[in-house]
Amino acid sequence: MPLTLVRSEPAPSLIDRVREVVDQDLTSQVVAIDRDGVYPEAVLRRLGAAGAFAQHVCGEAGATVAGPTGLMAAIEAMAAVGETCLSTAFCMWCQDALAWYVACSDNAHLKRDLLPGVASGAILGGTGLSNPIKRFYGIEPIRLKARRSAGGYTVKGALPWVSNLGPDHHFGAVFERDDKPGHFVMAIVPCASLGLTLAQSTEFVALDGTRTFAVQMREVFVPDELVVADPIEAYLKRIRPGFVLMQAGMALGLIEGAIRLMEQAMTKLGHVNAYLPEQPEAFREELTLLRGTVARLAETPFDPSDAYWRAVLGARLAAGEATVRAAHGAMLHQGARGYVATGAAQRRLREAYFVAIVTPATKQLRKMIAELDGAGSRGSRCAS
Ligand SMILES: Cc1cc2nc3c(=O)[nH]c(=O)nc-3n(C[C@H](O)[C@H](O)[C@H](O)COP(=O)(O)OP(=O)(O)OC[C@H]3O[C@@H](n4cnc5c(N)ncnc54)[C@H](O)[C@@H]3O)c2cc1C
Repeated sequence: MPLTLVRSEPAPSLIDRVREVVDQDLTSQVVAIDRDGVYPEAVLRRLGAAGAFAQHVCGEAGATVAGPTGLMAAIEAMAAVGETCLSTAFCMWCQDALAWYVACSDNAHLKRDLLPGVASGAILGGTGLSNPIKRFYGIEPIRLKARRSAGGYTVKGALPWVSNLGPDHHFGAVFERDDKPGHFVMAIVPCASLGLTLAQSTEFVALDGTRTFAVQMREVFVPDELVVADPIEAYLKRIRPGFVLMQAGMALGLIEGAIRLMEQAMTKLGHVNAYLPEQPEAFREELTLLRGTVARLAETPFDPSDAYWRAVLGARLAAGEATVRAAHGAMLHQGARGYVATGAAQRRLREAYFVAIVTPATKQLRKMIAELDGAGSRGSRCAS
């Protein structure tokens, strides 16, 4: 009897699954997210179910080891969304950062009880680390202070902007001990904590759909079981390359989206757009180079060397600057169609500036790089 070969369809890849969520659920909502500040919660949960937040943190059978090889997969998933909507891509970064904090810690309780939910999108949340990251590089004072209490810390202070939050969400926070100045502790804080309030007082020019709140903490008790690092120095050095590199997902996605807008405009306007100084082909080459650099760096996120950290900062700086240039290019190529209130090009331009100002912002990156380069040339160590 002749053998009948049954050819089974290959399982869809992570990126196929992410693109399906984008096509089915996100594209139609992009204008509402941008103009009405709609928070794409259902999209985020579906992206989580598709595996977008699990790549960099989950080992076999849901085990919770930080997996360096999965870092680029997390970045690519974010990029596939960022091609269409930066608000959603940024919420993905918030979620990925939260998962990263837990996965990189030694906290068995959080790895067991919180991480699987964060990695699957069942539990959502973000990160309030802009302020401490600016504090550690001498830019602003720390905003959260704590005193040691029985079984934990009592925290007070306020963070002006923390995104991807809600009443049942969680976020990473750093506080300084009142009784030991210079001693910093990091914990994962539930938004439902007693004494914690979320206030939405600011309207942004873009990224308004990211549920960005001012977080006020009035004598909030944070139990030891939620602490991921105490003190923070060695842990911070471990998490920071992944934290920064994952932001490249927003850049890679937005640059791709901007290139497509330039290419679309070519059909009708190519005869005149050809005179613009920056063309889509050049951006595509730049994007390929950037993607390659990020992929290489994402292979070794725990490399402790200054040379590696310098390369991560350089890639992040290049990503932010290329994002703004590409979105500017898309605006010029699209012309008036991009200038209408619901046009994609003007939205992409507003979104692009976020990549350049979210911590570490372009100016902070330049400061960090200048200090590292200066330290190298003087043969001394950089502040870390
Ligand atoms: C939409 C959005 C979402 C964000 N989400 C997060 C997040 O999830 N987690 C997080 O930690 N950070 C978040 N941030 C903060 C962000 O990462 C940067 O810290 C912020 O954009 C400023 O960075 P900068 O280095 O340019 O600082 P600068 O803008 O140079 O200085 C920032 C400082 O300005 C002061 N300031 C406060 N309010 C205002 C105001 N209304 N106008 C002007 N100055 C003010 C504060 O002292 C603040 O620390 C968010 C910011 C935005 C705009």
